[in-house]
Amino acid sequence: MKIKLNHDLLKANDLLAAGLRQRLAESGVLAVNLMGSPGSGKTTLLERTIETFRDREAGLRLVVVEGDIATTLDAERIERKGVPAVQINTEGTCHLDANMVLGATEDLDLAGLDLLVVENVGNLVCPAGWDLGEDLKVVVASVAEGDEKPRKYPRMFEKAAACVLNKTDLLPYVDFNLERFRDDVARLNPQAVVLPVSARTGEGVAEWCGWLEEKLSAKRLTTRPLAG
Ligand code: MG
Ligand code: ZN
Repeated sequence: MKIKLNHDLLKANDLLAAGLRQRLAESGVLAVNLMGSPGSGKTTLLERTIETFRDREAGLRLVVVEGDIATTLDAERIERKGVPAVQINTEGTCHLDANMVLGATEDLDLAGLDLLVVENVGNLVCPAGWDLGEDLKVVVASVAEGDEKPRKYPRMFEKAAACVLNKTDLLPYVDFNLERFRDDVARLNPQAVVLPVSARTGEGVAEWCGWLEEKLSAKRLTTRPLAG
């Protein structure tokens, strides 16, 4: 088969993503595709998320797939928190595709997991167009980036089930109109939840983790109907 057009590539990607989604459905694992600009705080949010779940009695079992153009820096940060991480180096490609995630997850025992988080390459543009077989897309934006991001990069916000607005501890120091940001997200995507957090101070992280737990419970109801 000759694949020449981007359209065909996307179609091939969707087939792989569908296979991955089926595998995830059978195991009851909730898969989240975490996207956002470089520096928005995706990895720091994951570090806080790991700490928050670890401090709870019924800790969630999670694995992180880290997508970066180069280095294993982010995977090392996750592993230092005691969570297994698989690093994908795209070697220049500015987004992850389903084939890369398939390769990164083929050796994982999904049945022993609750949550799979895929941290996409830092980029507010094309990751939104690539299905990775995830249950939910989440976009991380930070107040330091400015409040116009939903208007400038609408596709990312249209596709996200939640928008984590990070670095709220910096609100007194930057010109960021929280109300305008919320209005813009709501206009693009009325279903999206905006979750203000500071991954640095921990403010709002419990609400974010609660949102993840709700989504996990909802998935369990459909995939593990007999589970207690
Ligand atoms: Mg990162
Ligand atoms: Zn790309």
